[in-house]
Amino acid sequence: MIGAKADANLLARAAGAARERLGRPSLPVPIGFALLVGAGGGTITALAVLYLAQRGPRSAAFIPFALVLSGLDAALFAGALLAARSLVRRTYRPMLHTVRSLSEMTRERFAQAHPPRLQDPDSREIVTMLWHFGRTLTEQERGLQMELNRTVTDLRRWQQREAQARGLIDLIAEMSQALGLQAVLERLAHGISRFFAGDGVGIWVRSALGPDLQLAVQVGESYPSQLTARDQWLPGVLRGAPAQVRLAGSRVNQPSTAVPLQDARGTAIGVLVLTPTRRPDYTPAELDFLRSVIGHAALAIQNALAYEQTDALSRTDPLTGLQNRREFDRILTQEVDRATRYQRFLSLVMVDIDHFKQVNDRRGHPAGDWALQRVAELMRVTRMRGSDAAFRIGGEEFAIVLTETDKAGALAMAERLRQTIEGMRFFSDGAGVTVSLGVATLPVDARDGEELLRRADKALYEAKNAGRNLVIPA
Ligand code: GH3
Ligand code: MG
Ligand code: MG
Repeated sequence: MIGAKADANLLARAAGAARERLGRPSLPVPIGFALLVGAGGGTITALAVLYLAQRGPRSAAFIPFALVLSGLDAALFAGALLAARSLVRRTYRPMLHTVRSLSEMTRERFAQAHPPRLQDPDSREIVTMLWHFGRTLTEQERGLQMELNRTVTDLRRWQQREAQARGLIDLIAEMSQALGLQAVLERLAHGISRFFAGDGVGIWVRSALGPDLQLAVQVGESYPSQLTARDQWLPGVLRGAPAQVRLAGSRVNQPSTAVPLQDARGTAIGVLVLTPTRRPDYTPAELDFLRSVIGHAALAIQNALAYEQTDALSRTDPLTGLQNRREFDRILTQEVDRATRYQRFLSLVMVDIDHFKQVNDRRGHPAGDWALQRVAELMRVTRMRGSDAAFRIGGEEFAIVLTETDKAGALAMAERLRQTIEGMRFFSDGAGVTVSLGVATLPVDARDGEELLRRADKALYEAKNAGRNLVIPA
């Protein structure tokens, strides 16, 4: 840039130098010439007068002759002066003028839309030619400058894209390593917040419990714990159209951007909101990038959902929907550990349907299945707290794990369940089933899970022996 500027001013500098040389010594030359001619004529006149004076006083002829000679000399002097003046006018002045005009041809003059309007035609022609030439150069320079700017902008954009692409690859790898949906969403939210320089990210997902969306992750901002029907923008976003939204209680003035979160099949599973905390808004390119990240997340979300589904299936009994034997073993071990560590009560209730073989034999296997499902349902509704868990651990055998429940509490719950099942009509003829129950409690009946299970089983066996449809404590 500095080089180009110097080139453009070079002409003005050269012209300035020429003017300096032309300006000082040249003006006295023609005047000196005229003086020289005048002085020469004067000298000849003086010599002639002197010569005639030596030849004797003949004043009558001498005076007119001297006058003619002086007149000739004066005419010569005037002629030389006129010639010098004409020389200056015709040659020297236009030259000086041209050079002066050239020295005024600065960078700014070349940038003007018209050549400088000069009176002298020669100067005008030269300067106009130069102006055209300089203008071409200036335009070329401007073009080059613009091209350079474009290249620099392109380069920056590519660098930014490369950084984004790398970040995206890392994020996809991170997400695909996460097994559950929650872990995928957390990585997604943190990844997006990272891309957008720490801006706020919230993710809400549909829940099995109702139409509202529950907050699953929040990064960099505080978001409402639910999105409900009051958020009128929600249906549109879930249908796939991003929107600018204002969330209740946000400390940021600017609207947030809400986009749908979809699984790989395009089903909306929730909503992601990005809140600009440090700038007014996002550019279309940034929003494109956001959509692309979320598009890539869809597969990870799909995989996580599939994993959770498979995981839930592997823990669930398909006939009754209760947790299965494997899960019973796991939870019992876990809860026994916890109860032992924190010195809390833990009770176990074992349940077995009475004479179930006869139900199958008399009414058929499907009727038996139906009875199993009804018993499971009654177990579910009779449970006292959300933390209690019911399991189907064998054909017609069930278990209930009651955390923080002493023996009396467990016995009361078991008795309530027994009565509920006894009082229920299972089949169209009004008949039902009964259950026998055995109850054991940690730490009063056992020291570990194995012993607890054995004691509860033994109590159940005793209930069977004692006539069935009974609750027996260990
Ligand atoms: P008890 O009172 O001594 O427990 O007698 P019971 O007949 O209930 O006991 P038993 O263990 O002899 O019989 C259990 C029966 O449960 C045998 C089997 O046919 C039936 N059963 C096990 N699983 C299923 C199932 O998934 N569906 C149906 N319909 N029946 C099942
Ligand atoms: Mg039985
Ligand atoms: Mg049995």
